[in-house]
Amino acid sequence: MRDSLLELQEVRTYFYVRKGLFKTLAVKAVDGVSLSINRGETVAIVGESGSGKSTLGRTALKLVEPTSGKIIFEGKDITNLSSEDLKWFRRKAQMIFQDPYTSLNPFMTIKQIIEEPLVVHGFDAREREERVIKALEDVRLLPPETFLSKYPHMLSGGQRQRVGIARCLVLEPVFIVADEPVSMIDASSRVEILLLMRSLQGKYGIGMMYITHDIATTKYFSDKIAVMYAGKLLEIGPSQRILKEPLHPYTVALIDAVPDPDPHNRFRLRRVVTGEPPSPLNPPSGCRFHPRCPYSDGMKCVKEEPEMIEVDMNRKVACHYIEKIAGK
Ligand code: SF4
Repeated sequence: MRDSLLELQEVRTYFYVRKGLFKTLAVKAVDGVSLSINRGETVAIVGESGSGKSTLGRTALKLVEPTSGKIIFEGKDITNLSSEDLKWFRRKAQMIFQDPYTSLNPFMTIKQIIEEPLVVHGFDAREREERVIKALEDVRLLPPETFLSKYPHMLSGGQRQRVGIARCLVLEPVFIVADEPVSMIDASSRVEILLLMRSLQGKYGIGMMYITHDIATTKYFSDKIAVMYAGKLLEIGPSQRILKEPLHPYTVALIDAVPDPDPHNRFRLRRVVTGEPPSPLNPPSGCRFHPRCPYSDGMKCVKEEPEMIEVDMNRKVACHYIEKIAGK
C-alpha cells in the first residue's frame, strides 16, 4: 500500500465580495472537499471553468488560505504553518503552470529561470549548475548545455512547458500541482508532455494533483479521478473504472462530450447536459447539479444536499438516486 502524502479534510475556500454598502457575499469556490493523494499517485481534478478546481490546487499548495478544514501533508497538519515551516513546505511542493508563455520571465535565460528557486533556497553555485543540467536532461531538452543561454521566445510552446517542468523539478519536490499543463500547447505535443510528466512522476515517486477540464487526457495520466462541480466533489474513484463506467450523471455527460474518433460510433447516443454551470456567488440549493440534471426529482434534489457515499471499493458518488440511475 502506498503511504498518504496529502490529505484534504472538509476544505472550504471562500472569497468575500462587497455588495452595496453593508452587504458581503461569499464566493464558495471550494466547499467542503475531502480527498487524499498518496506518494507516486496522480489524482486528476476534473471540471468545467468555475468548478473550483484551480482554487482547490492553490489551496492544497497554501497559495490561498482555506476558510476552514484541514490540510495534512506527510502526516503533519499544515493548515496554519509558521513562516519557517512554510519554507520547508515550499521546497517539497511545487506547481506547474498552465501558460508556458506568460509563466516564464522573457528577460531571463533558461538557466536563470530554472535556477531561481535554488537561489531562493540558498544552494551554492556548483550545486545549482548540476541540478539545472539534470533537470534539463530529465525533461529531455538535449543536449542541456545548448539551452542554458537561450531565452523563452527562442523555444516552442512544448519546449517552454518542459522548462516550466524543469523549474518545478529542480528542488526535488514530493508533491506537484499541475494546473491545466497542456491546455495552451499544440495538440501534437500534449500527449508527449503528459507521458513525460507521468514517467518523471514514476521515477521520483511524486504525488501529483492534475487539474484539467479535459477528462479525455486523464487516461494518459491519472490513477484516480475526482469530478468537481460548483465547488463540490460529485464523484471520486479509480480512473479506469470512472472512464469505463461513470456513475454520476455529470461524469457521464463529461465523458460523453469527448469526441470519439471511431467512425462506427458516429451515431452513438450521447447524454449531454444543457445549461450553464452556476455562479459560485449563488449556487443552487440541494444538489448543486439539479438545474441541469435529467434525473432531478424537483423535490429532494432541490432541498437536500447529497452526501458522498461509498458505492464500491474506493469509489464515492454524491447523488440521492445513484442506485436507481446506475441500475438503468
Ligand atoms: Fe441528479 Fe438528484 Fe442525483 Fe443531483 S441528487 S445528480 S439532481 S438525481
